[in-house]
Amino acid sequence: MLVFEAKLEGTKQQYERLDEAIRTSRFIRNSCLRHWMDNKGIGKYELSAYCAVLGKQFPFAGKLNSQARQASAERAWSSIARFYDNCNKGRPGNKGFPRFKKHQTHGSVEYKTTGWKLLVDRRTITFTDGFEAGSFKMWGTRDLHFYQLKQIKRVRVVRRADGYYVQFCLDQERVEKRQPTGKTIGLDVGLTHFYTDSHGQTVENPRHLRKSEKSLKRLGRRLSKTLYGSNNRVNARNRLSRKHLKVSRQRKDFAVKLARCVIQSNDLVAYEDLQVRNMVRNKKLAKSISDAAWSAFRDWLEYFGKVFGVVTVSVPPHYTSQNCSTCGKGVTKSLSQRTHRCPHCGFVLDRDWNAAINILEIALRTVGHTGTLNASGDIDLCIGEETPQCKPSRGKRKPKE
Ligand SMILES: [Zn+2]
Repeated sequence: MLVFEAKLEGTKQQYERLDEAIRTSRFIRNSCLRHWMDNKGIGKYELSAYCAVLGKQFPFAGKLNSQARQASAERAWSSIARFYDNCNKGRPGNKGFPRFKKHQTHGSVEYKTTGWKLLVDRRTITFTDGFEAGSFKMWGTRDLHFYQLKQIKRVRVVRRADGYYVQFCLDQERVEKRQPTGKTIGLDVGLTHFYTDSHGQTVENPRHLRKSEKSLKRLGRRLSKTLYGSNNRVNARNRLSRKHLKVSRQRKDFAVKLARCVIQSNDLVAYEDLQVRNMVRNKKLAKSISDAAWSAFRDWLEYFGKVFGVVTVSVPPHYTSQNCSTCGKGVTKSLSQRTHRCPHCGFVLDRDWNAAINILEIALRTVGHTGTLNASGDIDLCIGEETPQCKPSRGKRKPKE
C-alpha cells in the first residue's frame, strides 16, 4: 500500500464542513462500539449492518457517504478485534478494552472509492457527499500523476494542528532495485547513542524533543493559565499542538532517512525485538527512549527492507549485552558498566558494540538456510570424516617431460 499526502486549501466554511464529516465519522465509530458493548458477541457484519440503521435514524449520519460510514464501522471493529486478539494471546496487564474517541485536534474521516472526485489535472478534489464540502485545491500531489485513478482504494481526510490534509492510499507495492552490497549489520539500541552497529560505528541520539522541551513546557504552562472556554485558551492550545506536530515531523524525518540509509547499504539488518512500551514505563529511561524514537525507526527499517529486498531480523533481546561475542560465555554487568571485559577469554570491547555483534550472530543463526537437499534427503556431510582437500594444482605449472 502506497500513501500520498497533500494539503487541502479551501475556505473557512468548507473546513467546517470537513469538521462535520470528521465528527460524524467519530460518532458512527463510537455508536458501533456502544452497539457492541450492549450486544456482546456480535461481529463485524452486524456492525456494518448497523451503519445503515444509524444513517436512517440520524439525518446528519445519513449525510456521510455510505462507504465512509462503513469505514468508520471498520475502525470500531479493528479496535474490538485488537482487544480480542490481546485476550486470546494472554497478554499480561491491560488488554486494551476499546474506548470511545473524544474530540481532538487530530481527527480523520475515511472515504473509499466514492464520495469524492479528482479533477483531470489532479490538483483539485471535490467531496460529493451530503456535507457538500465542495472543491479543494491540493498542495503536493506531483506523485499522484504516476498512478491510475482506479488504484486509489481509500481517501482519508486528516485534520492536524496546522490544517487539513488528504491522503490517497494506492494498491501498489513499492519495489526498488538495489545492488547487493555483501554486507550484514547488527544494531544495538542504547541510551548514550541512538544505536551502535556491529562494526563499532555509532549514530547519535536526536535531541529534537529535548531542545523543544523548554518551549513545550512554556507553552503548556501558558495553556494551563488560560480560562476554560476563552479564546486565549483556544489559541494557546493551538500553539502547543503545532509545536508537538513539528517535533513529531522532525522525529519521523530522522527515522526515515536513517532507516533508508541503513537498508540500502546492507543485505541483512539485525536488531533487538525490544518492548519499548515496557521500557518507557521505567521513568528514568523514559525520556531518552521515547526521544530516541526507536520503534518508529524499526517500522521504517522493516518497510524499506520490503521495498529494497533486504532481510530484516528482530532477535529476542535476552543476554545480547551480557554474553561475550568471542567465546559466548555470560559476563554479567550492570547498566552503568560501559565496557565488556571477558574473564574467560580476555576479550575487551565497548559494551554496545559487543551486543551488536551478538545480535548479528543470533540473527544469522535464526534466519536459517533454504538450500538444495540431496535427492535422497539425507545429509551426507560428516564432520568426523572430513578430510583435507588436495592442494589445488591449477595455476601451478608442472615441468613438461
Ligand atoms: Zn569471552
